[in-house]
Amino acid sequence: MGGSNRKRVLVADEIAAAGVEKLSYAVRVDVRTDIDPRELLKVIPDYHALVVRSRTRVNADVAAAAALLQVIGRAGVGVDNIDLDACKQHSITVVNSPVAASIAVAELTLAMMLSLARSVPLADAEMKRGAWSKKRLKGVELYGKTLGLIAVGRIGTEVARRAIALGMRVIGYDPYLSVDQMRSRNVHAVSMKTLLSTAEYVSIHTPLTDDTHHMIDGPAINSMRDGVRIVCTARGGVIDEAALLTGLESGKVAGAALDVFEIEPPGSSPLVEHPHVIATPHIGSQTHEAQERAGLDVSAEVIAALTGAELRWKVV
Ligand code: NAD
Repeated sequence: MGGSNRKRVLVADEIAAAGVEKLSYAVRVDVRTDIDPRELLKVIPDYHALVVRSRTRVNADVAAAAALLQVIGRAGVGVDNIDLDACKQHSITVVNSPVAASIAVAELTLAMMLSLARSVPLADAEMKRGAWSKKRLKGVELYGKTLGLIAVGRIGTEVARRAIALGMRVIGYDPYLSVDQMRSRNVHAVSMKTLLSTAEYVSIHTPLTDDTHHMIDGPAINSMRDGVRIVCTARGGVIDEAALLTGLESGKVAGAALDVFEIEPPGSSPLVEHPHVIATPHIGSQTHEAQERAGLDVSAEVIAALTGAELRWKVV
């Protein structure tokens, strides 16, 4: 591809430099990461592809104005900022990069489990205020404990691999996977009921859907083991936060580590402020490696769409 025949790509949100570089070998790239909605609507008719993260909103007006647009690439996973119906209507393909962050999220999940077991954030806070709270900071080990994975997709599988390396027994509930598929992921398939009543650690890795909304509610928490520790790096809304707070207050739940919230940011929240809660601001995929991988993956996918090659991660 060369000269004026080169297709034009607008990069409207910040993606890793390696991704922009990859695009620029194949197409003409404009990086305008501070573009506002009005300007986007004005310039979009000139472009064959658009690359976004979560900031840029692609609504029905943008899709209708995008006369040349063949593909929208989302660096990352969620496509809530893109009107998929409008894209379909205007024959615009939407692709994303769903695998780039799996390791980063799995590693954060392990970091949260270890932090819950050994109260690392509390120990550090005590040191910083000049206290030597050694006696108070007696933790537990992950070794020999049972981890219950709710969903064993890409991230759940990576968590299982790491938890097994730490000597944990891993059980999982995923209604879309066969027992054999679970076994090949080194996870012992169980019912949700068995998982909740058996696991000392419960880690959630489902998408947020009508089925999974408030899947971890009061009755689910009550059916867990006393002193359970819960980790959620999936999506806010899967856990009923009010029910979790009740569980923490009664002591049923020994600790919870949360990277995602029903409302983000959650602001002043008794759940976040609870002493047995470790909270992080949705940083699951925030590693240099994951961001670079997402930029490279989405760029490759956009180029594939523009050249008619096979797509790996087509959303619509
Ligand atoms: P994936 O699509 O590979 O796996 C999801 C799994 O959930 C699938 O195996 C599916 O069968 C299972 N599932 C669906 N409905 C279920 C149900 N009702 N009960 C049990 N299992 C069910 O997705 P993934 O890449 O592993 O991502 C998992 C979650 O992590 C998603 O919610 C995603 O949004 C989230 N995520 C969070 C961050 C972060 O920054 N914290 C980053 C990336 C992804």
